[in-house]
Amino acid sequence: MSTSSIKPDAVEAAVAVAGDTPSKSLDVPPATTRAAHASVMGASAREGGDPAPSRTIAHEGSADRAARAPAANPGAGIDYELFLDCVHCGLCTASCPTYLELGDENDSPRGRIYLMRSVTDGRLAPTAEVRRHLELCLDCRACETACPSGVQYGKLIEPFRIALESQGEARGRTDDWFHRLILFGLFTNPRRLRRALAPARVAQRLGLIRLAESLGLLRVLPGRLRQLVTMLPPPTRQQRALPAFLAAKGRRRARVALFTGCVADVMFRGTHWATARVLQENGCDVMVQHDQVCCGAIHFHAGSSAPARELADHNVRAFDASSVDAVIVNVAGCGSMLKDYGHHWHDEAAPGREALAGKVRDISEFLDELGLVAPEGPMPMVATYHDACHLGHAQRVREAPRRLLAKVPELKLVDLPETEICCGAAGTYNLTEPEMAARLSHRKLDNILRTGARAVLTGNAGCLLQIAREARQRGEPLWIAHPIDLLDLSYRRSKPPC
Ligand code: SF4
Ligand code: SF4
Repeated sequence: MSTSSIKPDAVEAAVAVAGDTPSKSLDVPPATTRAAHASVMGASAREGGDPAPSRTIAHEGSADRAARAPAANPGAGIDYELFLDCVHCGLCTASCPTYLELGDENDSPRGRIYLMRSVTDGRLAPTAEVRRHLELCLDCRACETACPSGVQYGKLIEPFRIALESQGEARGRTDDWFHRLILFGLFTNPRRLRRALAPARVAQRLGLIRLAESLGLLRVLPGRLRQLVTMLPPPTRQQRALPAFLAAKGRRRARVALFTGCVADVMFRGTHWATARVLQENGCDVMVQHDQVCCGAIHFHAGSSAPARELADHNVRAFDASSVDAVIVNVAGCGSMLKDYGHHWHDEAAPGREALAGKVRDISEFLDELGLVAPEGPMPMVATYHDACHLGHAQRVREAPRRLLAKVPELKLVDLPETEICCGAAGTYNLTEPEMAARLSHRKLDNILRTGARAVLTGNAGCLLQIAREARQRGEPLWIAHPIDLLDLSYRRSKPPC
């Protein structure tokens, strides 16, 4: 079904899509999906209201909605105007990875906004089916980039999912052993994660994980743990921790703090070193606060807001925002979370969070604004660049990395088809929704191979792991790295990596 056949501003059209599109559904049957929409439409008709949401139509006040809606209304804390920004034009659907894969309107941005609004209005119960459509959203925010009406989708889905998570039966989703022990207990604590990974690293060095994978023995592991094991990057030499201070080379142009995070500090410490060296080359004093903690994105995106807020407040204390020109982040997911500290929570500590958020810059954004000192080492290779969702869509940093890479001598950067479509990593989505994540990483690698590039550059740890695993499993010997790794090699006049 072509999106051009969808009439603007018409929910009937949305229902038609849900009804006649062959749904390549994961585990929500099309009949159920249609029923969900039918229930929305039925309720609307009964109330005699125009089901087509539009700013020109009078809407009931929030007090009316609160009176009619169930007590624990997951949309109660959301500014209702944000729902009304969506005029149902459908221009976002072609950018939505889940819609592209499933062809189901309820798994599109427009459909999800309508589901959330209907639940908020009390016209639709937050059934397991409704929750499933919302859970399947990657929160990649590609719909925000595509939307001509400026819909702030992240400000709808994130608080809505957090509110749903706090309710009865949904709570089980993040109150299980995997979330408690692995995602919240291990991932957010680099020291614990490093210790826990030590046996896996030994097994990797001995080739046992590859062997177990090829013999299908990993199937005995629980699904999410199996995903985790296959995601491990190849073992590299253990890098020592960054010192608390690294001085600028030459004239000092800026004083910055480096955010090292949790998982990234265990898996990508080499990239942290590269980032610090490139900053030094560009005249920056670099400080590394050793009492900094996880940004809180893992908790927040799993719907656990309170622990995320505690981590945020710890970081506000660890980084004295007033003492630096910028707080530099090289992981798009963390950067996006840190930049959002200011609007996630509204309490007396909000000004401190806003001050920190205001200083956060992605490394490519910062160097582009500062004016890159051109590196001189030639890198005669063909590379392509994948826009990490939390950099391109959430932070709207798209051209800066490309401008930096254009300054690397002899590097040929080729366009990646569907660069704006998520690779399936999406924070911990690849662990919690492995089937959809696998479809998307397969699609991503197909597009990469189409370019003929042998190097893939992207500014997010999750994307690096996801694309690298897909390439490994399909036997494609690609060099997959952060753009800053390549800049660092060029500054150091090292040999091209491929
Ligand atoms: S989210 Fe934006 S692009 Fe998508 S249907 Fe609504 S208004 Fe149109
Ligand atoms: S955030 Fe991504 S997956 Fe979710 S509705 Fe928007 S485009 Fe689709």
